[in-house]
Amino acid sequence: MSHPSVTSSAVSETLPVGTVLATQANFYQVQLDPEGNWPKPSLLCTRRTRLKKIGQQVMVGDRVTVEEPDWEGERGAIAEVLPRRTELDRPPVANADCVLLVFAIEEPSLDPLQLSRFLVKAESTQLEVELCLNKSDLVTDAERHQWRDRLQNWGYNPHFMSVLTGAGLEELQHHLRDRITILAGPSGVGKSSTINRLIPSANLRVARVSGKLGRGRHTTRHVELFELPSGGLLADTPGFNQPEFDCTPAELGQCFPEIRQRLDSDRCQFSDCLHREEPNCAVRGDWERYEHYLNFLEEAIARQEALLQLGDRESTLKVKTTRDGRRYYEPKLASKKYRRVSRRRQHQNLQDLCEEFDEL
Ligand code: GDP
Ligand code: ZN
Repeated sequence: MSHPSVTSSAVSETLPVGTVLATQANFYQVQLDPEGNWPKPSLLCTRRTRLKKIGQQVMVGDRVTVEEPDWEGERGAIAEVLPRRTELDRPPVANADCVLLVFAIEEPSLDPLQLSRFLVKAESTQLEVELCLNKSDLVTDAERHQWRDRLQNWGYNPHFMSVLTGAGLEELQHHLRDRITILAGPSGVGKSSTINRLIPSANLRVARVSGKLGRGRHTTRHVELFELPSGGLLADTPGFNQPEFDCTPAELGQCFPEIRQRLDSDRCQFSDCLHREEPNCAVRGDWERYEHYLNFLEEAIARQEALLQLGDRESTLKVKTTRDGRRYYEPKLASKKYRRVSRRRQHQNLQDLCEEFDEL
């Protein structure tokens, strides 16, 4: 059967469209849409010079068109990046739909404050947030129900599962279908076990992509989308697993469903209310995570003040943020030599500060 892509008119009329699954240096692994019936399921691509010229970055999750496909060599060139529906900086992922937070109910036991931190961090992406509670084999029905009721009051409907017994895995697969999901959670809760279970070792594609693109799978900045045999793409992002959020005090409230809900039906007297001691506040009240909110707010305020103070003291410096989220200061106008020394010194200062926050 002759293939559409080998007839010249078809090639010029329809370029293959696909999704970037992995990036490394200047190469992009593009999975072609299966509807195109292309001779190969994926191509290793470079980026067209004209994209470089206009500063068009290509991210994991990007939808792209591919020019000049070399089907034999499985190579091509990215001609165009289609408009993004969503865009995350850290981790760098385009078109993600959902953050899936995985926690264990036991071993390690669920720590409400830690869970809250992860939830706030996840909410700050403004993507849909789903909560999955693993190791449900270790607790009784009664305990599960208790957690469910408690978390529903937080505004979440937790999905219980056990990678060990397989309970709840089918629903999870169903939920992951046809979308890009970012997997996050502390270590030891069963994230790797979940991935291994969802992507059986028989699925060699994952290994092949990593092999082709070389090292770096486990570095913080490296993101890769795993194709689930049951449909959907999953990003396992070590960089996300630090629950340090950098919301401003004013943004923090939007990261709590309880606060969003309260502000939907009522409003505070002051539009810039931080929901502490202000009169006629619609948010302050007797709800479980209000204490968490106040804790995180103190942190956010302290962080902001520290940054401002540093900024004042070194008013010749400007704040910059690295891709993995650390802030550092850089002289506004300075020689390269000065810049390098100064950056290191400032970075050190900030690291000290961050450690102080962590101890709060
Ligand atoms: P990660 O650090 O989040 O990737 O967690 P791992 O996948 O490495 O799992 C940590 C430990 O929890 C391992 O010893 C797993 O065997 C165990 N584990 C994972 N899922 C379950 C589960 O559903 N039930 C129980 N009892 N143990 C599990
Ligand atoms: Zn208020």
